[in-house]
Amino acid sequence: MSDGTRDGNLLIIPRDLTGDFPRGTWRLTKRDGFYVANFSCPRCGARGGLGHGTNHTIADDGSVSPSVVCDDAACGYHDFIKLDGWSMRLVANDDVARAAKEAGERVLRDARVDPEMLSKPTI
Ligand SMILES: [Zn+2]
Repeated sequence: MSDGTRDGNLLIIPRDLTGDFPRGTWRLTKRDGFYVANFSCPRCGARGGLGHGTNHTIADDGSVSPSVVCDDAACGYHDFIKLDGWSMRLVANDDVARAAKEAGERVLRDARVDPEMLSKPTI
């Protein structure tokens, strides 16, 4: 277990908005047209991806499953985490719906990102 704020058994991971990407933070980025998170290990700072195209799913509220194990075997970090500030929701917008219909599920998934989350810098 690491130090830090918890929500139940989930360690709350703050979003990095400084650009320094310190250990124990996450950043919003895109992979194959999907919004995903890059995560920095709280113990050693090793970085890895979460979300689409990885072994981890990010729920709409930022909860990550399954638990996260550091890519660096020498580090051995293992915990259950939740990405603070991760916010996905359906955006009821005619333009978005039309675009999704024309371009398919990929756009629909993009449209599920909360505009509030996108108002902050991405990498
Ligand atoms: Zn680590």
